[in-house]
Amino acid sequence: MGKKVRRIGVMTSGGDSPGMNAAIRAVVRACAYYHTECIGYYRGYQGMVNGDSVKLNARSVRNIVNQGGTILQSARSKDFLTKEGRAKAAKNLKKDEVDAMILIGGDGTFRGGKVFSQEHDVPVIGVPGTIDNDIYGTNFAIGYDTALNTVVEAIDKIRDTASSHNRLFFVEVMGRDAGFIALNSGIGAGAEEILIPEEDLGLERLLDSLERSRRAGKTSSIVVVSEGDKIGKNVFQLADYVKENLPNYDARVTVLGHIQRGGRPTCFDRVLASRLSVKAVELLLDGKRDLMVGMLNNEIESCSLERALKGKHNINKELLKISEILST
Ligand code: ATP
Repeated sequence: MGKKVRRIGVMTSGGDSPGMNAAIRAVVRACAYYHTECIGYYRGYQGMVNGDSVKLNARSVRNIVNQGGTILQSARSKDFLTKEGRAKAAKNLKKDEVDAMILIGGDGTFRGGKVFSQEHDVPVIGVPGTIDNDIYGTNFAIGYDTALNTVVEAIDKIRDTASSHNRLFFVEVMGRDAGFIALNSGIGAGAEEILIPEEDLGLERLLDSLERSRRAGKTSSIVVVSEGDKIGKNVFQLADYVKENLPNYDARVTVLGHIQRGGRPTCFDRVLASRLSVKAVELLLDGKRDLMVGMLNNEIESCSLERALKGKHNINKELLKISEILST
């Protein structure tokens, strides 16, 4: 059994995601509920390296459950990648009398947390917050649901103009090497084709499918392209390729970009963030360490950070078939 946890540190790291504020709030309020002090570090690991911290109490987190972004801000820290940087961070935590850390972020954040915990014997718990949803050990990461809704709303609008002009739109969405956003938003918005890194559709099949759509009498077509798609062309080259090979199509490109990270979190993300973060505090107070909390089949569970980092969150293949059937 490790040392009793009297003060918990919290930070948000990597790419920001809607619902991170709800997660911070839940950590702070759970600490207050369990009579444990809480301290926040600004800009992820960089704040730990620089000793940039703030004491947080239940009132410090009022009116943030509904706000996008993160009040603690986020960053990617080069300093923390070095042994010296991490030693500085450990020294600052000691000075602040922080006994354990809750890390809200993606897989890079958890990788850093695992190294830090091993080097400096600081218990850590990871809370998955990334719109990409590419984390093993949880069905959903905080921010993913909000991002999906943002994308679907945007594609609905694109559809209006696409059908008014008989156009083909390529819509690029985020997700890095994972196709969760593309696949789910594509089905939700009724896309004719969805290109994701997990499945190589091939350029010929794309042309065939678009030609079939046109012959079937569709007045507009939407192709959702995941940014990490491996078809061998970026979204602009893809549109040019289709224009060359299917001259009947008036093809346009929309890259949704950072609007996908912003906005008020959906109720789903707020509840998810609240449940995961309360559990993270409870695990630390229970003497547990180096875990990631996640939601599996609507239950809050935990697995080792090591397992979360080694495992792969696979897309649901059933959805590929659904998308094929529905684009008939
Ligand atoms: P997102 O999925 O939204 O990009 P992320 O948590 O994966 O979020 P990263 O930039 O990959 O974002 O990681 C966040 C930070 O974690 C990095 O900027 C770096 O400071 C730290 N980090 C990542 N990998 C390591 C590592 N191997 N050792 C130490 N620190 C690391």
